[in-house]
Amino acid sequence: MTVRTRYAPSPTGVPHIGNIRTALFDYLLARKHGGQFILRLEDTDRARYSPEAVDGIQRSLAALGLEPDEGPGIGGPYGPYVQSERQDLYRAAAARLVEQGDAYECWCSSARLDAVRAEQQRLKQPPKYDRRCRDEAGRAESRREAEAEGRGPVVRFRTPLDGQVTLHDAIHGDTTFDVALLDDFVILKSDGFPTYHLAYMVDDEAMRITHVLRGDEWIPSAPRHLLMYRALGIEPPVIAHLPLILGPDGSKLSKRHGATSVFEYLEQGFLPDALFNFLGLLGWSLDDKTEIISREEFIAHFTLERVVKSPAVFNIDKLTWMNGVYIRDMDEALLCELFAARLDADLPPRVPRPVDRGIVRRTVPLIRERVKLLAEVAEYSDFFFAEAVHHNRDELLGKAWAHRAADAGAALARVRASLAEVAAWEHAPIETTMRALADEVGVKAGDLFSLVRVAVTGRRVTPPLFESMEILGRERCLARIEAAARAL
Ligand code: GLU
Repeated sequence: MTVRTRYAPSPTGVPHIGNIRTALFDYLLARKHGGQFILRLEDTDRARYSPEAVDGIQRSLAALGLEPDEGPGIGGPYGPYVQSERQDLYRAAAARLVEQGDAYECWCSSARLDAVRAEQQRLKQPPKYDRRCRDEAGRAESRREAEAEGRGPVVRFRTPLDGQVTLHDAIHGDTTFDVALLDDFVILKSDGFPTYHLAYMVDDEAMRITHVLRGDEWIPSAPRHLLMYRALGIEPPVIAHLPLILGPDGSKLSKRHGATSVFEYLEQGFLPDALFNFLGLLGWSLDDKTEIISREEFIAHFTLERVVKSPAVFNIDKLTWMNGVYIRDMDEALLCELFAARLDADLPPRVPRPVDRGIVRRTVPLIRERVKLLAEVAEYSDFFFAEAVHHNRDELLGKAWAHRAADAGAALARVRASLAEVAAWEHAPIETTMRALADEVGVKAGDLFSLVRVAVTGRRVTPPLFESMEILGRERCLARIEAAARAL
């Protein structure tokens, strides 16, 4: 059997991290078995449809390297892969169900349905269609009213009144549901569009999908689906409900916890490989301890058996740590390009563009160990690219020189004079010179270095000082030290 999985998002907004995790697991399962990973757009909710969302879905998959084998814009033997272009199939399926007696037209007005719901609410009963159109008499009456008002029908599934269905879930095992609790749900809307329940099932069968992976939030819909598979004579695929993704406080991951879209994470400077790795561990593990896992390893080892039943927690600190690991391990030339692109985007406009690639290349070894996020690159290295730096008096003095501004100014003047004499402008002689000077002046070396650090970089926290000074060059260092002395 060829494994065929599908990612079937509804293009209604920015793809949520949870959706991408589903796409990732679909992708891994298909790749692991040499099968196909399919993208299908479930765009039957016309009120919430957005063309930007379609674009976002495709871009987010591309950004993480989850390239579908079949899908809109890609093609494939079972297209079209957009539900709004497959209407005939759904209408035919709904008509078949009506003909078999497994579904019926419902002509009830929304005003009537609202009244039924309000009454149920008042009686503290669960909301449920009261099945007026289920039998012919009620239906005929509703139909007369509807036709007088020029309204069309919806199609509802004729849910059996009792009995049980059992979901065999590849992750959760078996769960049995009481059919009596279900209502007669809509499968075809009055606009002629199918609801999700009908459309996905018809398409999964037509597209030969073998494994359906979706979030745990869909479990309550499973009994309806099982009844429909039966009525349509479809052998259900393997069904696997993936654990929810929670925020650190234990509630479902949402905007309240921070970013929920892949794009926001990419913008903040998380690397696609790090996101891939992190998302792959949201609910799946290799062995309960390995954290850094390559794409190839994920593909080689992924199985539904190792997906957990309990929710996964989205831990941003872990993602940030992981990103740092990926940055440290990345090929240096590639990293230079990434850092340079980021600096082109992030540095203030007065810095000439494109930023000097030669300098980027020299600074990467100094900062790659510290940077956990690409968004931090500018903060660690802006002073290499700026002509001059701004000096804040309090920053310059820090604790060590507070109330001793005159001493600090004098010390800077002496540093400047000594550095002007250093024979070769390299980090080792720069350091030796400054250590000797600290002894002469009678201050702690660390205090002198932190003063010089702020003088040449404008910042208290920077990459290693002497290496940075070497890259900056003598002229710029001396000019900045002089400017700092003046600022005091
Ligand atoms: N269109 C549904 C969604 O947006 C698909 C769920 C499923 O995978 O069946 O989540």
